[in-house]
Amino acid sequence: MFLVILMVVRRIEVYEAYLEYKEPFTISLGTSVSSTDLIVKVFDEEENFGLGETSPAMRIVGESTKTMEAAVAELAPSLIGLEVSRIGIVEETMDRITLGNSGAKLALEMAILDLMCRKSGLPLWRMLGGYRDEVETDITIGIKKPDEIAKDAVRYVENGFKILKLKVGVDSVEDIERVSSVRDAVGSDIRIRVDANQGWSVKQAVRCLNEMYRYDVELAEQPVKWFDLEGLAEVRAASPIPVMADESVRSPRNALRVVEMRAADYVNIKLVKSGGLLKAMKIASICEAAGVPNMVGCMMEGGVSIAAAVHLAAGVKNIVTTDLDSDLSLVRDVVVEGGSPCMNGRRRPPEGPGLGNLRLDDEMLKPVMVFGD
Ligand code: MG
Repeated sequence: MFLVILMVVRRIEVYEAYLEYKEPFTISLGTSVSSTDLIVKVFDEEENFGLGETSPAMRIVGESTKTMEAAVAELAPSLIGLEVSRIGIVEETMDRITLGNSGAKLALEMAILDLMCRKSGLPLWRMLGGYRDEVETDITIGIKKPDEIAKDAVRYVENGFKILKLKVGVDSVEDIERVSSVRDAVGSDIRIRVDANQGWSVKQAVRCLNEMYRYDVELAEQPVKWFDLEGLAEVRAASPIPVMADESVRSPRNALRVVEMRAADYVNIKLVKSGGLLKAMKIASICEAAGVPNMVGCMMEGGVSIAAAVHLAAGVKNIVTTDLDSDLSLVRDVVVEGGSPCMNGRRRPPEGPGLGNLRLDDEMLKPVMVFGD
């Protein structure tokens, strides 16, 4: 006899977690010193729960902690009573907010998927495809003076990282110096990638990337404005360094447009941009069909969301590299035990069903809302 376990969403608890960075983090769009993330717990009728986390990426997707809370308050009541395993209906319910609010949607969807997998005993990365059991991540260095960046780079290489991601896009002359000083400091075996976060014009991008080519830069993320796909395609055609779309791709539809226009060699998937793991999988499928590999990156997320992103990257074949390092820059992470520790730039999905073993620091969780009973 086949036994169907009906498990429904009974209660949703929402918490704020204040995450402070070890040092200010500067990209071409601005400087951040902290992030107030949302942690969501979704309970079933037997008090089992799944975990979700999201981070407000105001400069990239236009959400703050408070707007994410407002969107969660809008969505959560319609999720109460839904069957946890009918994840397609969960996605459809989220889509009732047709545009944006991707961070808010992520937290809810992640928690429901976690609960579903915990109940079925399956680790999330296996449910998503189970392609590899370990991923390699780069480590990101924010915008600073070229000599300071070189010092950071050496320290990270000593700690085992083999891929460095340098933030650029503020001053195109100094950007080239940043890359050359790091290449001089770390030698030829270390992979270097750059991310301009939309900071260059098409002309600046083409000039910078042609200059940077001599320093063996493996890829360049989002050289120009997110909406300028023609410009992105132009840079790609004129750059000897492969181009990755990041801010330009927030949805499967965006991904389709980017690959149709041949505007990028790679597409960066981030859970906070895509609005959840299901949408992230759809972006990966579109890119795979077009022969465009993916990276999985992050906003300023703590260890719960990073664990989810490691599960995604491990599960999906088309995800060939990762940039999953934000939890490493926190003074104190919300995950205090388990999670996906980073060893020599490598991370594994946490052991166990769903997101796996993750113990949270309850002292860091400030309750803000409860839905259901
Ligand atoms: Mg980026």
